[in-house]
Amino acid sequence: MKEVLLSIIGAGPAGLAAGLYGGRAGLKPLLIEKLSPGGQVLVTDWVENYPGFPDGLSGYDLIEKFASHARLFGMEELSGEIEEIQPVDGGFELSLSGGEPVFSRKVIVATGAGPNKLGVPGEEELTGKGVSYCATCDGPFFRDQTVAVVGGGDSAVQEAVFLTKFASKVYLIHRRDSLRAIKILQDKAFSNPKIEMVWNTVVESIKGKDGVESVELFNRSEGRRWELKVDGVFIFVGIRPNTGFLKGLVDLDENGFIVTDDWMRTSRPGIYAAGDCRSKPLRQIVTAAAEGATAAYAVEHDLAMQE
Ligand code: NAP
Repeated sequence: MKEVLLSIIGAGPAGLAAGLYGGRAGLKPLLIEKLSPGGQVLVTDWVENYPGFPDGLSGYDLIEKFASHARLFGMEELSGEIEEIQPVDGGFELSLSGGEPVFSRKVIVATGAGPNKLGVPGEEELTGKGVSYCATCDGPFFRDQTVAVVGGGDSAVQEAVFLTKFASKVYLIHRRDSLRAIKILQDKAFSNPKIEMVWNTVVESIKGKDGVESVELFNRSEGRRWELKVDGVFIFVGIRPNTGFLKGLVDLDENGFIVTDDWMRTSRPGIYAAGDCRSKPLRQIVTAAAEGATAAYAVEHDLAMQE
């Protein structure tokens, strides 16, 4: 069995920052990731609020910089999906799907979060056939077409603006009469002539045979129901943490996010958490990176205290 001092699960900004700090601390961290480094940042077409990059850069370019920086300080990488973390004498045994288990004295969980589903008829059947959770991935398929974006947070508004690069018309459908997104994003959406706001409205179903043809909408303040013809539906109604494999092992909040202290320590000594999977008020690349650094620092500190 491979034995390491520190394994980091997940290669988004939190995991890669932990890899960088863990590497510089001489811990030779092992980063375990299902696919290639990235996380949610990879589906963000443009990042303009990461300090030090005033001109902005693509999510892909930023994550490449994170990964190569961490590799420079000795972070190792292993491809695999964690099935279970088992507490054993002196650390943890990590079971990976289709791979050798890993023994690790400390574990940083940086598994991030994935998109919520709307849970309406047609959504599942038409996913990949016009229903999407990633504008960067699927936006170019909707050149000169009409799309609906559902949600009112930063993701929905940012991606609605992005989709206007391709689509001829973007309906932004939100269940209330004001957006949750930050003002700078709201201003961009309101001043974009291709975006039409559809307030106080929920999507009741998504219709289509081989692809999306329309959405059935319900305006809650007027009690009005109608059908809107669209070619695609982009859903951004919040995120859920990738923490299912941790149930019973560490404390989670009511929404499944991991509860930690200021050092990123979870309720289970030896397991730390950083990034979007953690229970916290602000989910940004910069906060994920900072938490990854803090978690690696805590690991270094706790290992030293045990020696
Ligand atoms: P979010 O902030 O939780 O917003 C989710 C939106 O979806 C809300 O407007 C919510 O409506 C709506 N919603 C939730 N469930 C719904 C349902 N069943 N039907 C219809 N609408 C529903 O999620 P997010 O926008 O994905 O952002 C996640 C995190 O990433 C946030 O912390 C955000 O700040 C961050 N983020 C930041 C940036 C950036 O800085 N540029 C970009 C993307 C994401 P209500 O408003 O009525 O609750």
